[in-house]
Amino acid sequence: MFFATLASGSSGNAILVGARGRGFLIDAGLPAARVLESLRRVGCGPEELEGIFVTHEHVDHIRGVGVLARACGLPVYATAGVWAAMAGAVGALPAACRMVLTDDTFALAGMNLTLVRTSHDSVESYGLLARDGELTLGVATDTGVITPDMRAKLRGCDALIIEANHDGDMLWRGRYPRFLKKRVAGEFGHLSNTQAGEALRDWIGENTQKVVLAHLSAENNTPALALKTVVEMLRGHPVRQKCAQLKIRVAPRHEPHELIVLGEERGSNTDGQRVRAAGAAGP
Ligand SMILES: [Zn+2]
Ligand SMILES: [Zn+2]
Repeated sequence: MFFATLASGSSGNAILVGARGRGFLIDAGLPAARVLESLRRVGCGPEELEGIFVTHEHVDHIRGVGVLARACGLPVYATAGVWAAMAGAVGALPAACRMVLTDDTFALAGMNLTLVRTSHDSVESYGLLARDGELTLGVATDTGVITPDMRAKLRGCDALIIEANHDGDMLWRGRYPRFLKKRVAGEFGHLSNTQAGEALRDWIGENTQKVVLAHLSAENNTPALALKTVVEMLRGHPVRQKCAQLKIRVAPRHEPHELIVLGEERGSNTDGQRVRAAGAAGP
């Protein structure tokens, strides 16, 4: 199983997730050309993609969805509520590209996916649990609180992409207008570094190898501060001491990080490109 954030934050979000040369995107909030360029940089061609899952209708998550789906013939997966909210922005799509999710679980690119309810000021919003055999990747950004669904489904994942949007002090002392500060810090806003740290204290298990802190605010956070806050909160954690392999990193705002590979990634495309790309990037 492999994954990479292609961009992360209020200027655009997209995450590549895949296994054995098959993959999909979680959101496409960048212009389609930038999504394709970012995919190329992590060694993935658009022919490897089998769909786009959309978490919610905010523009930083859907900006490139319509163009990308039409250009690459990709099916777009979203709940009926998200479809209703984003239909105008995404534009016309062939019926075969409109996949309306009616269950919490669905299959895409050979993986089993489960919706995870988040708490956000959109019509609906979701994180995702991706399972490939024994391996699991949990993804949750754009949520004001840790929901019961997140707590139930994201414990003990092999890898986690979790929002660490803001530092509380920077937000409240910063220059945002008060209504915006309240929105960001509120129940339907975004997770702070401390909330991310608390969630990770609860969720990491002995098998957890990789954590990516995502959707950082450019105004109210820094990558170094997010990382320091979370690492310090996990220091002395009983599980943390046992899982020496755990690596925590921050998702870059405008570019992909190198592909992260979980377990053996033996399978490949017909030309074996995935194996070479994964091997070159390494965990
Ligand atoms: Zn967002
Ligand atoms: Zn949002």
